[in-house]
Amino acid sequence: MPISRYRDAGIPSGGLTTSIVAVVTDVVRGGRPIVGYGFASVGRFAQGGLIRERFAPRLLGAPDLMNPEGTNLDPFRAWSVMMAGEKPGGHGERCVAVGTVDMAVWDAAAKIADLPLHRFLAERAGGPPLAADTVAVYAGGGYYYPADDVSRLSDELRWFLDHGYTRAKIKIGGAALEQDLRRVEAAAKLIPTSGLAVDAMNAYDARGSREAATALAPHRLWWFEDICDPLDLETHAAVAASYPHPIAAGEALFSRAEARLLDRYGGLRRDRDILLFDPVHCYGIPGYLDIIRCLEERGWPRRAFWPHGGHLFALHLAAALGLGGAEVNPLSFGPFGGLPDGDAPVEGRTAPPQVAGIGFELKPDLSRLFATLLV
Ligand code: MG
Repeated sequence: MPISRYRDAGIPSGGLTTSIVAVVTDVVRGGRPIVGYGFASVGRFAQGGLIRERFAPRLLGAPDLMNPEGTNLDPFRAWSVMMAGEKPGGHGERCVAVGTVDMAVWDAAAKIADLPLHRFLAERAGGPPLAADTVAVYAGGGYYYPADDVSRLSDELRWFLDHGYTRAKIKIGGAALEQDLRRVEAAAKLIPTSGLAVDAMNAYDARGSREAATALAPHRLWWFEDICDPLDLETHAAVAASYPHPIAAGEALFSRAEARLLDRYGGLRRDRDILLFDPVHCYGIPGYLDIIRCLEERGWPRRAFWPHGGHLFALHLAAALGLGGAEVNPLSFGPFGGLPDGDAPVEGRTAPPQVAGIGFELKPDLSRLFATLLV
């Protein structure tokens, strides 16, 4: 599926795509089979090739995917079946393919259990019980506009404020630093910088990182995200050593081993920095839980985790696992981004859907799109 960073899908968006999948079960309710839906989150392109060649055939060929009680799909078992024979390392984007199908398996299993995903997952994740009924959220977006950039950015931020968001994240790193500072200053007129984050989309080299950090520091932003190449831990650590305010990282790292390297060598500070790992891109829920466990053992608090993605799946995980909060993409990546139609945060927090599964059915445009898989 093509997806766009913009509400106006006519603005070029780098040819971004995502994959959608349906897992059709033989559990029948109300005369219809229960179906789980998933998609490949945003930012890493579609994964149909790997899903069709490796991961869907393994699931379909498995003799049994049931839990020990024989009452439901076991998503962890399904995940092990998908990963059978996969070697350590070489994550590439296979992790995204696995995470896409994993989302649909969890949606199906939560529907079979007749529970919202956050309640279903909280019972199975082996961590602390469901931490909160509501999740802290912020509006992700603020991409560059091809014309009237700063005034259209301001319009977008006003839309967020008018629709219940109190915090937001905007993009930098794709223009001259002076232009980016104009974006930050325009945004700061609308949103207090204590709730304003910037995302450089991994654009800066070593020198650009230093210059941007120096220029941004006086603004005391909520956080400075995706500073340099995700594996340039040397540059990352150098910025962290001099930039006093929170830094956010991890969106483009997909495994426990990489998360461990980021923690060991990236200079992150456990008392203030933010971990962005995308649960879909990190091999789905089992892979994401593995990263949380690894970093918790190394002293990280759960409040540091703010999963990337901006969709309902991440919102459920934040509630189930007691994470710091979740991104929401109210205007980007339609029809996947944002809350159920008509929902808005209250004082910067919102509850995940209370219907069985992830609740994609509460977004009619998305529901119609998923339904095309069943024809
Ligand atoms: Mg980012």
